[in-house]
Amino acid sequence: MATVQAPRGTKDILPEDVVYWQYIEAIARSTFRSAAYQEIRTPIFEQTNLFERGIGEATDVVGKEMYTFTDRGDRSLTLRPENTAGVARALIEHNLQAQGGVQRLWYSGPMFRYERPKAGRQRQFHQIGVEVLGSASPRADAEAIAVAMNFLAALGLKTPQLMFNSIGSFEDRKAYREALVDYLTPYKDDLDSDSQDRLTRNPLRILDTKVERTREIIQDAPTLIQQMSSESIQRFEQVQQLLTDLGLAYTIDPQLVRGLDYYTHTVFEIQAEELGTEATVCAGGRYDGLVEQLGGTEVPAVGWASGVERLLLLVKEHGAVPAQAVDFYVVSRGDRAEANALALSQTLRKLGFAVELDLSGSAFGKQFKRADRSGAAACFTLGDAEAEQGTVQIKWLASGDQEEMKQDEIEAIAPNLRQKLDQLVS
Ligand code: ATP
Ligand code: MG
Repeated sequence: MATVQAPRGTKDILPEDVVYWQYIEAIARSTFRSAAYQEIRTPIFEQTNLFERGIGEATDVVGKEMYTFTDRGDRSLTLRPENTAGVARALIEHNLQAQGGVQRLWYSGPMFRYERPKAGRQRQFHQIGVEVLGSASPRADAEAIAVAMNFLAALGLKTPQLMFNSIGSFEDRKAYREALVDYLTPYKDDLDSDSQDRLTRNPLRILDTKVERTREIIQDAPTLIQQMSSESIQRFEQVQQLLTDLGLAYTIDPQLVRGLDYYTHTVFEIQAEELGTEATVCAGGRYDGLVEQLGGTEVPAVGWASGVERLLLLVKEHGAVPAQAVDFYVVSRGDRAEANALALSQTLRKLGFAVELDLSGSAFGKQFKRADRSGAAACFTLGDAEAEQGTVQIKWLASGDQEEMKQDEIEAIAPNLRQKLDQLVS
């Protein structure tokens, strides 16, 4: 019988990789803490209409990529394809904005999109992101971008490229949409079929195409900035000035639009050239209309999401993150010694040490080899003689130094053990 495999587009994250995930998560946590962002955790599935209303039915994400199912109670549910809509829903549901001021939130977790899998593109993937809700200030845009850059810098990314644009207000876009459709309609037959489809449904998304011939056509298309109101242009310039003041280099990309309908004004992407075609490691923008669109009050907001699988590819290139080794490895043989060893391991753990107990029952030689491989600082050994005398042998693996002590003295000498461990790492 064929063995069962993980579903297409999903990946197991095995222990050797988990160390990198934990490293990225730890850096995210400390970066966000340094800017007063608090974590929020929302459900992995939501009512389908949250995404239809929030992201927009004409988008790829809603139109083609959602994992939607009917549950046993006949509800239509969808595995979240992104987390901004969920955070906005939680804000409304718990009336978080009533507390006044700005909500600075971050999240981390799996997202689901039915896409063609390839390197850096999966069906279950992970995002770490932030949302700043309740501020219309251009400083909120600049801060959110700065925090993204802090995060990537802390991860050791060498030259992240910040691509930046404004897509104006909804009104600006309405005017622009017409101009764009007028320009593109004569080329209709030359457009790829997706773009032809978008010409009526969501023409701005055509700017986001990766198809070469379509790209050529849009080279000379009118740009949004030509249709933007003076307020929108002023806002665009304010954010640019703030970025410049922060010393953050950026490139304005007039063709940068984002895949989701809810964006307004600021949109940006951060790219890592090392990644080739799937180069965007972080993407976001302002979404002033979303909370209202979901039935809340008007809450201006800005945020971004970063693809963890892509960050991981980069972090791995920069070298190994050391696995977390235990402090002590405990080896034993013989019924009484094995029982003592289990108890001793527990005592050591309660004293704050990380301990791996060898459960194999194999010959001492084999157990010692595993002790060496474990990366532990010391190996504790119990045999028949030790069980008889209530003692334990301790061997410090780097120096080979050995000592013997009474099992019931462990608690008393714990500070000495801690001191030795601290000396070894310093
Ligand atoms: P693309 O144009 O590459 O499909 P997108 O606009 O759909 O990107 P966003 O919704 O903005 O992507 O998601 C933000 C980030 O999440 C992306 O820049 C990327 O790093 C990551 N991401 C998005 N979809 C996937 C996926 N299927 N697999 C892995 N990472 C993804
Ligand atoms: Mg996509």
